Amino acid sequence: MKKITRKTVKLFQLMVKEEKGSALVLMALALTVLLSSVAIVTDVGIAYLNKIQVANAADAAVLAGAQGLPDETKATAIAQAYGTRNSVPNINVEVAENKKEIQVTAERSTNLLFARIMGYNTTRASAQARVRLEPLTGVKGIVPLGIEEQTLVFGETYVLKYAAGSDPGDEYHSGWLGILALQGPGAKLYEEDLKYGFDQEVKVGDLLDIQTGNISGKTQSGVQYRIDQCKHTPTCTPDHYEKDCAKIMLVPMIRPYGTKQVQVVGFAAFLVDAVAGMGNENYITGQFIYHTISGDSSPTGKDNGIYVPRLIQ
Ligand SMILES: [Zn+2]
Repeated sequence: MKKITRKTVKLFQLMVKEEKGSALVLMALALTVLLSSVAIVTDVGIAYLNKIQVANAADAAVLAGAQGLPDETKATAIAQAYGTRNSVPNINVEVAENKKEIQVTAERSTNLLFARIMGYNTTRASAQARVRLEPLTGVKGIVPLGIEEQTLVFGETYVLKYAAGSDPGDEYHSGWLGILALQGPGAKLYEEDLKYGFDQEVKVGDLLDIQTGNISGKTQSGVQYRIDQCKHTPTCTPDHYEKDCAKIMLVPMIRPYGTKQVQVVGFAAFLVDAVAGMGNENYITGQFIYHTISGDSSPTGKDNGIYVPRLIQ
């Protein structure tokens, strides 16, 4: 048997040591690659999340801001408040000259975790969103009243149901005081629709049945119910009203159609002003206001100051 020399042993020991060494080097390399991947994935995730949140904040801000139109100052304030609420306080608002379009640009920088090693401390995202107000062409919740086709003036008071003897005239069925039969004829259904709004969608072009008579008791109770629902302080007026107030009535704008029907040409919103008068003298008035709501819309619909905000960018 060949004798193992000291030299051979030493060589062997050296070889083992080197093996160990290169394994360590490999492990260190692998770990570096792994950590770098984790770092990249984490920072990309942070940047992506920031982008999504900024885009969502822009959409929310512009849709909320649109509720304030046509008042530019109000629209801007609402949009910016929404930005702050969604932790994206840097919101720039632009309102078109016709006050029917609003655009926001939202921007936010957020801190990165690992990329700082390479000198990148933050990631910045910006997003733009634009809303156009389109005239309402179909909606649920109208009251069983109608307003004749005309150009309305903001804040003005209009008669929504006439007292006997002051009806809208010869064009309409004689003796018609402004009441529509939506669910069907009768005082009970009329009162229900007056209180809660008609639960079916009514669209421009639809024909609605008219209902003659005064129905003063149910007119009184139905409208008073709405007035009592407004718990807002100060109470809602054209200068300041809450969008969800029950005093806001959606009224179809109509034109005569035969002797028993009217045709819907648009919609308008009124803040109940008064329901008064006993018996034949009973009437309803409302103040015309601007309003935004969800429903059907068309850019070419008749503009009566009631709009559906549509995200167009
Ligand atoms: Zn109110």
